[in-house]
Amino acid sequence: MQDDMSGRTHHNAHHGIVENGRTHLRDLSLTELREFVERLEEPRYRYRQLVSWLYEKLADDFLEMTDLPMSLRETLGRNAEVSSLRGATMQVSKIDDTRKYLFELRDGKFVESVMMRHGHRLTLCISSQVGCPMDCRFCQTSKGVFQRNLKSGEILDQICHLKQDCRDDADKVNIVFMGMGEPLLNYRSLVQVIGTLNDADGLEMGSKRITVSTSGLPRRMKNLANEGIKCSLAVSLNATTDDQRRRLMPAVSRHSLKDTIDAARYFAERTGRRVTLEYVLLKGENTSYEDAHRLGKISRKGPFKINLIPYNPGRDPEFDTLSEDELDRFIQVLLPYSPTLTVRRSKGPDIFAACGQLWNQSLGHKKEPAEGT
Ligand code: SF4
Repeated sequence: MQDDMSGRTHHNAHHGIVENGRTHLRDLSLTELREFVERLEEPRYRYRQLVSWLYEKLADDFLEMTDLPMSLRETLGRNAEVSSLRGATMQVSKIDDTRKYLFELRDGKFVESVMMRHGHRLTLCISSQVGCPMDCRFCQTSKGVFQRNLKSGEILDQICHLKQDCRDDADKVNIVFMGMGEPLLNYRSLVQVIGTLNDADGLEMGSKRITVSTSGLPRRMKNLANEGIKCSLAVSLNATTDDQRRRLMPAVSRHSLKDTIDAARYFAERTGRRVTLEYVLLKGENTSYEDAHRLGKISRKGPFKINLIPYNPGRDPEFDTLSEDELDRFIQVLLPYSPTLTVRRSKGPDIFAACGQLWNQSLGHKKEPAEGT
C-alpha cells in the first residue's frame, strides 16, 4: 500500500467502494474485477462480458449491457457503477479541432482532459490529480489549488469517455499523463491504470502509446522502471542548471538535475525505452547560447530525445516567447548533439488547451505545500 502525499492510504480506492456503498468497477484492477464477479456467484464468462463492456464497448450504464440477463444488470445497478463522472462539458477549437473536456466528479470537484489530433493520430491528455501540488512557474495548473489524487477509476473514466468520443479513430489513440497533476505523486493509482491499459482484457495498449510525463521525482521514476508495466517516460526538465530549476520549478528542485538525469537514464536502460526530455522555452530564463550547449550535453547522457516546447503565453503570460528566428538559433546549437530533437507546437490556442493551461477557476481554496516528492 502506497501512501499518498498527505500520508493517507487508499484502502477504499483499491477496492473501488464509493461513498454510496456501490463499487466503481473501473476502480478495480482486472484481478479484483474477476473476484467481484465470482462473489456475485455468476459463471466465469460473465467476467469476460463485463470487461468487454467496460473497456471495449465503453459502456456508461449497465442497461446497455444487453448480453447480461436483466436480473444481473439490476443487481449490478444496485451494487456497482460504471462511471464516476457526473457531467461533462466540452470546448472545441475552431483552429485545429482540439477538444477540451471538463468533468465533474462524484464529490463536485472538476478535472480536465484534452483530445488533440496530429494527422491521423489522436492524443488524449489525461489528468491524474485535481489541481497540482507542484509549483512550476510557467504552468497555469500550479496557480489553482491541489485538492486530491484521482482514483484509478476516475482516470480510466476520462480515457473511456474521450475514446467513446473518437470511436472511429479509437485504434489510433495515444495516452499522455500530462494533464492536471504530477502523475508520480499518485503512484499506485497510476500503476494500476497502466496495468489495465496494457492488459489484453483492458485496452491492450503498449508502451509506445502510453507516456507518463513527470516534473522529475527520481525515486519514483526508478520505481516505475521496476514495475514491469509498459509505458514510456517523459521528464519535464526546463532547466540546464540547478539554480535555474530552483527558480522555474521550486518544488521539484530539491532533487538535483544530476539525480533527475540519472533516474531518467535508469528508466531508459531498465526498460529499453528512450526517455523524452521536455524543455519549455522561456525567453531570457533558459534560452541562452550556453543553455543550448548544456542541454545538448545533457541529451548525450543517456538514450534521450529532446522535445522543445515554445512557451504558450495563454491568458496571463509571465514569460516571453521566443521569436521563430531565436527558436531556430537555439535549435541550430542543439542539433549536432541531439539529431532526433522535436518541437511541439501548442494545440487548441483559442480554448487554452495547451500543456500547462489546464486550470479551472472553480478549483478555489488555498494551495497546500508539496510533500512526499
Ligand atoms: S507542469 Fe505539471 S507538475 Fe508542474 S505544476 Fe504544472 S501540472 Fe504540476
